[in-house]
Amino acid sequence: MTVKLTFMGAARGVTGSRYLINSNGTMLLVDCGLFQEREFLYRNWEKFRCIPSELHAVLLTHAHLDHCGMLPRLVAQGFHGKVYCTPATAELAKIVLMDSAKIMAEDAAFKKKRHLKENRKARFPEEPLYTTADVEKTFKLFAPVEYREPIQIADGIEATFHDAGHVLGSAMIRLRFKFNGEKRSIVFSGDIGRWNKPILEDPDVFKYTDYVVIESTYGDRQHEGTDEVSEKLAKIVNDAFSLGGNIIVPSFALQRAQEILYYLNILLMNKDIPPLDVYIDSPMAEKVTEVYKHFAELYDVDMKVLMRINRSPFDFPGLKKVETVEQSKDLNGQSGTYMIIAGAGMANGGRVKHHLANNISRPESTVMFVGYQAAGTLGRVILDGAQNVRIFGKLYQVKAKITQIHGLSAHADRDELMKWIGMIKVNPKHVYITHGEKESAESFSRYLHEQTGYQTSVPDYEETVNLD
Ligand SMILES: [Zn+2]
Repeated sequence: MTVKLTFMGAARGVTGSRYLINSNGTMLLVDCGLFQEREFLYRNWEKFRCIPSELHAVLLTHAHLDHCGMLPRLVAQGFHGKVYCTPATAELAKIVLMDSAKIMAEDAAFKKKRHLKENRKARFPEEPLYTTADVEKTFKLFAPVEYREPIQIADGIEATFHDAGHVLGSAMIRLRFKFNGEKRSIVFSGDIGRWNKPILEDPDVFKYTDYVVIESTYGDRQHEGTDEVSEKLAKIVNDAFSLGGNIIVPSFALQRAQEILYYLNILLMNKDIPPLDVYIDSPMAEKVTEVYKHFAELYDVDMKVLMRINRSPFDFPGLKKVETVEQSKDLNGQSGTYMIIAGAGMANGGRVKHHLANNISRPESTVMFVGYQAAGTLGRVILDGAQNVRIFGKLYQVKAKITQIHGLSAHADRDELMKWIGMIKVNPKHVYITHGEKESAESFSRYLHEQTGYQTSVPDYEETVNLD
């Protein structure tokens, strides 16, 4: 039997997760992610390294764009097999991909106009990578699978999805190959979540596997303790009440926004903060929260207890939806202390920009960052202590209180990665380190080898290995 694995993305980089399996001629893809790092964007425009119509199936770990964001393009170019994923991932991917197609269409139209005006030639085609019609075609291919129930993908190939504890529905995937009495297995970690994270179950672990493909986003770092999140949040809210101003929270729509609600709900229940109006001003976060409500069977035990005693973090008194742009604008006329959670998570777009424009020069207002802010984004500029920031072309003095909560990461840190892989009882034949910047991946590869003696390596982009 021959099983070949090709790293078509997330190799010495964080985005574009895409792994091609060729097992005796049957071709499978694990994930089909979008490249989002600036230096790798050109890869989204390259031809797929496999013929989409010849692919037998795609197995999807979760609904983040860097894992599923190129699926509609694969479909537009002829893929017509099944896309296996958990039911929650299917629902979330529909929201995320539709949003992505709309943003791509807007961006392409905007760029076309600007390049024409500036008489400039574009680096990439001024068209979206795919359309909403391609996304709709993709929806039809989703084949939902439950956690821990093995399914036959093709002759001699079985897949099992396990809970990754990263975002709702996220999965680790184990593939088992069986031909003429020979057996092999490989585990794709997907994005590994964290132990004791709100709402979600802890990551599943594996006792035996021949090969592992493991992420390494934080392979060279340790996170701050999660216990401090609650304390910090309470202090920020209480201070905001003393100041008498608003709290603006730029947040990602998937998982982060729901986690903030979880922590707020507990603080409100324990009366650690005064009753607080919380506005979710993000249509996408609203839709995602609906999916979270729908899949209550995936919650961890603490969350299930909250539901049983009617204390859902998605329904607490004071939690309010903002549906229209008009309602969103009206928020800024209100007095008193309230919280607005809005996208984009790095404040580089979305409704949060309006709220920042309205609040950043008010000394009584607070801006609370709850996630990573990439270099060059408005969020990063504010966080780095800029005195003035430009929003919608206008210069604003930064007078609001700028705060940040660490410890909300959705990815395991180095010790947590070690804990996860340490559960494997028999040494795997090889561990491939992916989904991390070069330094992080290499550091984790060395560390893992030193600590366990496992054979490890950081594969190159488009490298192919034999799983013997
Ligand atoms: Zn992810």
